[in-house]
Amino acid sequence: MDLNQLVNGKSGDKEFLLGNEAAVRGAIEAGVSVAATYPGTPSSEIGNILSILAKDAGLFFEFSINEKVAMEVAASSAASGLKSFTFMKHVGLNVASDSFLTAVYTGTPGGMVVLSADDPSMFSSQNEQDNRHYARLANCPVLEPSNPQEVKDMMKYGYELSKEFSIPVILRTTTRISHMRGVVELGDVEIINNKTDDFNNINFAKNVHWEKGFFKKDPKQFVPVPENSMVMHEKLVAKMEDIEELANNSDLNFIFNSFENINSENVKPKSKYGIISSGSAFNYAYDVVVEDNLANLGFNILKLGFTYPFPKDLVLDFIEGLDGIFVVEEVDPIMEKEVLAIIGEVGIDIPVFGKLDGNFPLIHEFNSDIVRDSINKVIDSSFNTINTINTINTINNGNNINNTNKGSNSNNINNNINNSNNSSNDLNINKRLKDIKDNLPSRPPTLCPGCSHRATYFGVRRAAEELNISNENLIFSSDIGCYTLGVSPPYETTDYLLSMGSSIGDACGFSVATNQHIVSFIGDSTFFHGGIPPLINGVHNKHKFVVTILDNRTTAMTGGQPNPGLPVDGMGNQAPEISIEEIAKACGCEFVETINPMNLSKTIDTYKRALEYDGVSVIIAKHPCTLIKGLKRKRPMVIKENKCNNCQNCVTTLACPAISIVDGKVEIDDLLCKGCTVCVQMCDEKAIGVKKDI
Ligand code: SF4
Ligand code: SF4
Repeated sequence: MDLNQLVNGKSGDKEFLLGNEAAVRGAIEAGVSVAATYPGTPSSEIGNILSILAKDAGLFFEFSINEKVAMEVAASSAASGLKSFTFMKHVGLNVASDSFLTAVYTGTPGGMVVLSADDPSMFSSQNEQDNRHYARLANCPVLEPSNPQEVKDMMKYGYELSKEFSIPVILRTTTRISHMRGVVELGDVEIINNKTDDFNNINFAKNVHWEKGFFKKDPKQFVPVPENSMVMHEKLVAKMEDIEELANNSDLNFIFNSFENINSENVKPKSKYGIISSGSAFNYAYDVVVEDNLANLGFNILKLGFTYPFPKDLVLDFIEGLDGIFVVEEVDPIMEKEVLAIIGEVGIDIPVFGKLDGNFPLIHEFNSDIVRDSINKVIDSSFNTINTINTINTINNGNNINNTNKGSNSNNINNNINNSNNSSNDLNINKRLKDIKDNLPSRPPTLCPGCSHRATYFGVRRAAEELNISNENLIFSSDIGCYTLGVSPPYETTDYLLSMGSSIGDACGFSVATNQHIVSFIGDSTFFHGGIPPLINGVHNKHKFVVTILDNRTTAMTGGQPNPGLPVDGMGNQAPEISIEEIAKACGCEFVETINPMNLSKTIDTYKRALEYDGVSVIIAKHPCTLIKGLKRKRPMVIKENKCNNCQNCVTTLACPAISIVDGKVEIDDLLCKGCTVCVQMCDEKAIGVKKDI
């Protein structure tokens, strides 16, 4: 077909599309603005086509350096209010999962679809994993199309769902769906706007989806520090309960009544057996039950397209009154376990025939022969004898055994609980713990006195102020480490966070999706862990942001372990010290400067130049963590009372724990002060100096 039809095709046109082509058209119809991937079969054609059509389609597309970075580009774009699309082969989601699982918490207000192309039978993959597990792990919805028309339609619906609930939606295809062709009726293309934004000098000729978004700061939503994550998780669980309601009533889930489609005079009485199926497996079940010589079986098929949250009510309605259920699904017995759980929950006896009882193969792609043979294992060719008696008996016996055991087990458990509750020792411990908890003062986590991150934050804030960059127009993407504490006032230098190394990948997305200034923070150890690929990604794709590598010469947050930037290995032996500067330069960064953040004027000056730099600038803020053993203690500071005007800026803007207000006046605690001199430099009155008599 003419690929341009994917952009230019009108509503109502019919095209003979590959599943992956249909995904592209679905993204275009939905009005996707940003798409990113790392290529992997069976999803590769989507990226290949977008690389040709993106400009005409008016959207931004990049081949990211890996799937995790692609996920971050999409997630931060969606956080900026744009519709974003990331797609990958099944194993790619492993690479992206660190950021993906947290993106489900933080949400995707603009709308985001993650297409996972699974590869049953491993035609071009190293394993056969079933990515429906990821939906259960991450707690997000899954749509499973069975043909190219559904791929396109479910793409569009995925964005509606994602936007409404601010949650990523997995569109799970398999090789057979990605690579099958079928007639697809096109729909309307959603035009987001008609103006171009020349941020990256891309000249869009036609429809323009790529209107820049705006990232609205909301740390409670976008910064998953434990206090926020606990709330996020609660909200997510509630959200998924609402989405389950939708799945129960979704048009994507329907009962296919095979009798209505049989015109034979030999139609037998309606079967008491049903099939539950999804994705490509549905096509085989359909072939067997409706189209071939087993048509007289007249099984009804519950075709699930909206497969997670599992539509329990709908499934229960379907199976009630049946004598048996076949679950036809590829790779893992996921729906089968869901069905068994429902049956167990309501306490009904219906045999379930699937992978777990050996009727269907536990691995590999299905086809019509496999599905037919598997059904025939249960039902004889004349369809009069249902080979289920043993199964039902087994289940009944199992229930009896379970019930018997349940009674004795629960008695034991209750006894244990009672014994435990009756223990006076435990009661005392509980009371003591409660007393301690009630009397503990609230101590929010904070950076240590003398921590160089405080100076860095002060420097970047002052630089932005001097450049007249408002707080709203300055996004701080942060990473996993002590410096995440920058989320708290007065610094407020953590606006978005997903995973180890994500600060730079997220910055790539913000750079594409917004016109705001972006400063990312990443530690030295985290940079080695996951920061190098996204840095290359940023340079190669011509993004624009400032990267701050907070090199405090240790892996501080976890207790001071070494990292490759140090001349020592994990056993204390001498080791080659890897230069962060040289890595940054080798990644293609032309603006790479190392500063001592404790030198405030130099720090401010460097940030000012970096913020004005047109490209990826790297500042390495190098200063050892104050907790490193053997560091020489410096003299503490003292307030010069005759000069201090008690403006208290040192308290409100630095928040060093060594400075406090006592009886209405600022004081520096000798024991806490590390003598870093940052307060000395920031005090306009020159009212802080070295304490001489210690
Ligand atoms: S910033 Fe300087 S002048 Fe203001 S309270 Fe602190 S020490 Fe005093
Ligand atoms: S009181 Fe001043 S010198 Fe002492 S640790 Fe805090 S910022 Fe550094």
